[in-house]
Amino acid sequence: MGAPELIFELREAGYSIKADGRYLDIYPADDLPADIVERLKQSKFEILEALRLEQQHEYANLARLVARVCYADGWQDADIWQAIQLALDDYDDALMAYTEQAAMRGMRLDDDRRGCFECGELMNGFCQAAKRGLVPGADQRGYEPVRYMMRRCDQFKTKG
Ligand code: SF4
Repeated sequence: MGAPELIFELREAGYSIKADGRYLDIYPADDLPADIVERLKQSKFEILEALRLEQQHEYANLARLVARVCYADGWQDADIWQAIQLALDDYDDALMAYTEQAAMRGMRLDDDRRGCFECGELMNGFCQAAKRGLVPGADQRGYEPVRYMMRRCDQFKTKG
């Protein structure tokens, strides 16, 4: 059984599991069955990596949600960036608040578009894929896309 399945099994059984740096943070930890403890020990690094990816994904989704709400309200780029940082610092409350805000504005929560602000092709505000002529309609001499407007772009590249 892989790390994602073990994480799922634990959550299904009512445990909370998170990564805390190099440690697994499991609650409640005092009544974990011995076989589960053994499996956790054996797969600790895979589980930590799976939890890290999960958190990365959750943070990216929240950042996008904040960007959508703030952009729709006409906020300036710097303010949207700050709102994203504040939301990520207070993940649970911010997720609830922005989900509500998005619903109030009639936004779909299953929107699969992304923003240039989260794209690995954006450097110093300019799209590097456009420079290579890969973004239809964009000026190859310098294309500065609107960072927080959601779009579907074939050239989107995950950062990192
Ligand atoms: S490749 Fe697409 S998503 Fe990425 S910065 Fe350029 S226009 Fe934006």
